[in-house]
Amino acid sequence: MRAVDVILKKRDGLALTRPEIDAFVAGATEGAWADYQVSALLMAIVWRGMTKEETSWLTESMVESGTRLNLSDVPGVKVDKHSTGGVGDKTSLVLAPLAAACGARVPMMSGRGLGHTGGTLDKLEAIPGFRVGLSPEEIRSQLRDMGCALFGQTSEIAPADRKLYALRDVTGTVESIPLISASIMSKKIAEGIDALVLDVKTGSGAFMKSEADARRLAESLVDIGNRADVRTEALVTTMDAPLGRAVGNAIEVVESIETLKGRGPADLQELSVLLAARMLVTGGLAPDEGEALQRVRASLDTGAALEVFRRIVERQGGNPRIVDDYDQLPTTTTRDAIRAERAGYLQALDAKLIGRASLALGAGRDTVDATIDPGAGIRVHAIPGEWVDRGQIIVELLHNHAPNIDGARALAEEAIEIGDGAPTVRPVLLERVGPV
Ligand code: URA
Repeated sequence: MRAVDVILKKRDGLALTRPEIDAFVAGATEGAWADYQVSALLMAIVWRGMTKEETSWLTESMVESGTRLNLSDVPGVKVDKHSTGGVGDKTSLVLAPLAAACGARVPMMSGRGLGHTGGTLDKLEAIPGFRVGLSPEEIRSQLRDMGCALFGQTSEIAPADRKLYALRDVTGTVESIPLISASIMSKKIAEGIDALVLDVKTGSGAFMKSEADARRLAESLVDIGNRADVRTEALVTTMDAPLGRAVGNAIEVVESIETLKGRGPADLQELSVLLAARMLVTGGLAPDEGEALQRVRASLDTGAALEVFRRIVERQGGNPRIVDDYDQLPTTTTRDAIRAERAGYLQALDAKLIGRASLALGAGRDTVDATIDPGAGIRVHAIPGEWVDRGQIIVELLHNHAPNIDGARALAEEAIEIGDGAPTVRPVLLERVGPV
């Protein structure tokens, strides 16, 4: 089969067969297809789309490009959550211990920051000593002992995604529902889980700007999961402003621990508790959402989830004292306040601009191999819908003499919109999708 014939077929808007998709995935992974041919087909997929069958075959083929994590000898229901990415989104750090404390086994394979969005692995690595590179045996034994492991993608899991993602990133082919769906779901299916809850973000700080696109992505993800025998459902949630009050790495760890102590910001607590409850329901560990919510809240109130978090940190080589003493975490020398230029209601705090400002402070990467400053980030002092007085601090920029502080400041200022009338602020949860 010639690569060019597969490209021509998709270019002309026709559906590909399973053998053609397999040839593409194998060709990309093993190098039989040149990068320009892989990229040409990716671009044709962006423009022409894929049917549900094609998307499901692409996902399967990407799963089969590597090995699956074998969790068959871990007793209990294995259930995970995945977010499509946002700003200040640290729900994984909160809900993984919450769900584990309620009896779920949570093999949480996470990624690094992408563009303006933060990544769970970068946040965890802000904890001194924390190791995210776990072997399959370490993951299995940790799941048996404490119900949860937080780790990065191994080279054996969906290697096709690594190759395709790297090309998509530099060829303008990230924004495609079938490509995003196959990328996310190939990694989740290879994890060996029974059930999955997806948090599909929409708004300025999300990859899907419109709610309609987010719904279509959610439907596609749910369809692929259920076809692969992973009970899957999705929540479409708001990402207009950062989630919680901290954006960065170490400061997001602190906010996660505060939330596990019952003192977190309302939006973060609400979403983490709801997602953990849905994990219990989707995994068949609770009969309905009401009971699931009760159990999750109890694991928060009793401190059981906080203890799970402490044990995970210790087991993965991190300093468990950070749970009680935040001074053990990286910090910064400098704080720059951005203040309200006038009195009024805070209309917006644009999540994407705040994410980019945080990146400019050193909390994220511009290039894949850049190092990040784990202490850097942005503390949010006022949220959309609140009244602010002239001169009141809206956000604080935390950094270690960031070379691009002027750029960060400009982005943060641009993110702030103050007006006269009280704005309509969208709720955290917008829609539920699946299981289909
Ligand atoms: N996250 C992924 O893992 N893949 C995508 O394509 C987009 C977000």
